Amino acid sequence: MNAIPTLHNYINGQWCASTATEYLEIINPATIEILAKVPFSTASEVHQAADAAAEAFVTWRRTPASERVQYLFKLKNLLEEHFEDLAQTITLECGKTLAESKGEMRRAIENVEVACGIPMMMQGTNLEDVAKGIDEMMIRQPLGVAAVICPFNFPGMIPFWFLPYAIACGNTYIVKPSEKVPLTMQKIFQLLEKTGLPKGVINLINGAKEAVDAILDHPKIRAISFVGSTPIAKYIYSRGAANGKRLQCQGGAKNPIIVLPDADIAMTTRIAADSAFGCAGQRCLAASIAVTVGEARHTFTEAIAETARNRIVGNGLDQGVEMGPVIDVRSKTRIETLIEKGANEGAKLLVDGRNPQITGYKNGNFIRPTILENVDPVGEIARTEIFGPVLSLIHLNSIDEAIALVNSGQYGNMACLFTTNGAAARKFRYEAEAGNIGINIGVAAPMAFFPFSGWKESFFGDLHGQSNHAVEFFTQTKVVVERWRDEWARQF
Ligand code: NAD
Repeated sequence: MNAIPTLHNYINGQWCASTATEYLEIINPATIEILAKVPFSTASEVHQAADAAAEAFVTWRRTPASERVQYLFKLKNLLEEHFEDLAQTITLECGKTLAESKGEMRRAIENVEVACGIPMMMQGTNLEDVAKGIDEMMIRQPLGVAAVICPFNFPGMIPFWFLPYAIACGNTYIVKPSEKVPLTMQKIFQLLEKTGLPKGVINLINGAKEAVDAILDHPKIRAISFVGSTPIAKYIYSRGAANGKRLQCQGGAKNPIIVLPDADIAMTTRIAADSAFGCAGQRCLAASIAVTVGEARHTFTEAIAETARNRIVGNGLDQGVEMGPVIDVRSKTRIETLIEKGANEGAKLLVDGRNPQITGYKNGNFIRPTILENVDPVGEIARTEIFGPVLSLIHLNSIDEAIALVNSGQYGNMACLFTTNGAAARKFRYEAEAGNIGINIGVAAPMAFFPFSGWKESFFGDLHGQSNHAVEFFTQTKVVVERWRDEWARQF
C-alpha cells in the first residue's frame, strides 16, 4: 500500500514541511479513498510567509511590469501543458466532472492571459498645465504583501481571480487554499516554481482557522481577498478592516431564475438544469430557485423534472457522467436534512434525489438532482443557501411578483430571466438586484475581462475580483503635482 502523502507549504521559494500538529485527510468524494493529508499550519508559518513576501516586495516592485508579466506568459504555457493533469486533480479532490474541471482551469488560464496586459492596465493618467507650468499625474503603485483565502468549490480557478493581477501589479502574494481541496494548488505551485519567479513573490500556506486569523492580523499583509460563505466573509471583512486592511470578500448566494411563459422551454430547461445541478449545485452562481410565471408553471415544471430524473450521476472521472458527488459526508447530510425540512414546510418533493445507489461507488457522497415544488417563498428553504443539487420551484402570476421575489432575498450574486420578449428582458436587467445577470443564459462566471460583481450579502467590499477591478484593488493611486519653470531650462 502506498503511504499517504503529506502536503507541504511553499515559503520563500522553498517547499517546507509544516510544524502543525493537526492534519486533515483529503478524501476523494466519489470513492472515499484518502488522497493526502493537509497540515493546519500555524500562525508562525504565516508570519514566515508574510516576512518573506515583504522582503521580496522590495525588489519585485522595482522589476518592470513588462518583465513581471513574462513569468505569467511562462505560467500560461505550463498550465496548458499540464491542463489534463490539473483537471483530473480537481475532479479527484472536489468531485465535479472532468468537463467541469476543464472549464474551471480554462477560466483560470484566461485570468492569467488578461493579467499579461498589466503594462497597459496599470497605467495612470496625467494632465499638463493644470495651472501654468504645473503638471499633475496619477500613478498606480503596488500595495506590498497581499493574500487570498479560498473556498472548496473551485480549487483551480478562484485563486486566479486574484493572484495573476496581484503579482503582475508588483505585489507579493500568499495563497491559503481550502483545507478540503489543497491538492490542485499544490500542483499549481509546482508550476509557479518552474516559472522561476523570485523567491518570496508567491507563497502557499495550507491550513484553516489559525492560518486565516494570522493572515488577518499580520501587519505586513496589506490586502486580503476572500471567497467563501457569507458568515465567514463577514468575519474576514470586519476583522481585516479593524486591522486596517484593504478587503474584498465574496460570500454565499441563493440565485433565482425566472421563466416567463414565452420562454423557449427546451433551451431554458437545459440551461436551468446545468445551472442548478452543474458541479452538484456547489457553485455560488448555481440556480437554486426557479420562479415560473403563468403557463410556464406547467411546461417548465414537467420538463425540468424529467431532466433532473435523467441526469447521469457518478464518479466525475467516468465517461458520460453529468454530475458528481458533493464534497463530504457532512455536506451530504446537511443537504438531505434541508430537503426533508422543505417537505415538512409544505413543499412537494417532485424529484427526490436522496440516498441514490450509484453502481460501483456505494460509499460516495452522492445526492441525485432534487426538485421541491411550491416552496414557501418566505420559508427556510427559499432563504438558505443549500449548496447542493436542489432546485426549489415557486409559481407566480406576473413578472412584477417574480422580480419582487428576486429582490426580497438577502443575497445578490446572480439572477436570470428566460423570455423571448425584449422589453421584459430590459425591465429585468434594470430592476433585478444582483451583480451578475443572465438573460436566456445561466451565468457560469463572468469572463476574466469583466469583474465578478456580487451584490448585497454576496459581497463585502467595493472592488471585485478579475479584470480592471483587480488592478484597482492591487494598486494604490498616488497623485503627483509638479512645477517646472521654463526659465530653469534656459541655461542648457
Ligand atoms: P467557507 O466559508 O466554509 O470556507 C472558506 C475559507 O474560509 C476556507 O479557506 C476556510 O479555511 C476558511 N474558514 C472557514 N471557517 C473559518 C473560520 N471560522 N475562521 C477563519 N477562516 C475560516 O466556504 P466553503 O464551504 O469552502 O465554500 C462554499 C461557500 O463559498 C458557499 O457559501 C459559496 O456560495 C461560497 N462561494 C462564493 C463565491 C462567490 O464568488 N461569491 C464563489 C465560490 C464559493
